[in-house]
Amino acid sequence: MFGSRRRRERQAAIDAGMPASWRSLCDSRFPWLATLDADRSERWERRTHEMVLDVSWEPARGFEVTDEMRLTVAGLAQLLVVDQPDGALAAVRSVVLHPTTIVMAGEHSQVDGIVTDEPTPILGEAVEHGPLLFAWDEVVHDVEHPERGRNVVLHECAHVLDHLDGVVDGTPPIADPELAQRWVEACTEAYEDVVAGRDPGVIDPYGGVNPGEFFAVLTEAYFCEPHALWSAHPALAEALVDLYGVDPRTWCVH
Ligand SMILES: [Zn+2]
Repeated sequence: MFGSRRRRERQAAIDAGMPASWRSLCDSRFPWLATLDADRSERWERRTHEMVLDVSWEPARGFEVTDEMRLTVAGLAQLLVVDQPDGALAAVRSVVLHPTTIVMAGEHSQVDGIVTDEPTPILGEAVEHGPLLFAWDEVVHDVEHPERGRNVVLHECAHVLDHLDGVVDGTPPIADPELAQRWVEACTEAYEDVVAGRDPGVIDPYGGVNPGEFFAVLTEAYFCEPHALWSAHPALAEALVDLYGVDPRTWCVH
């Protein structure tokens, strides 16, 4: 059959596990990796390896995509969905990497319903039915400085997770009805606080734009400043532990 040899080679690579140099790069870049239990660690490694091999990694003109870049983006993306069923990020078929901030020119829309022709700097974007875009210098800066409360890869992948049920409405698919109920109650309260400017500052005010952006910036706060989020919104943080299956308080000091 056409392509069967390529498929066999891919499967053999996955079965053999990550090359040692990849694994040591991940170990030094991701402090949370050592905190995952054996099941999650195995799942994360297999899915990260698959994403590196299966996604089309496209450099912006004049740029070169390296293993370090593929592993950093795929590793963060797969942390986000480590407790989701296989294939949660299957919609991501390609990732475009730019060396630095991308400036959108001409008439464009970053937020539903708002069209502008002002040049807009963007650090990342999840194009619906299209690629993920990232500025590589921002990806690295986020990993090295979690205290800024930002992570563009987690932000854009949160949009992909949110979209799994067909709409970007701030609610990813949640199978457990009890958790879904807690989720809606906690999110509604925190969202209204952000919109009204009452949030103590842990959730980025950009989250007040719409529920989809709220979920994305909330996800960034959860992974980058979990202690601050727990203090400000304990019920919401508990719902996020049940959604994501990992508790960033175990590796984060902020
Ligand atoms: Zn967004």
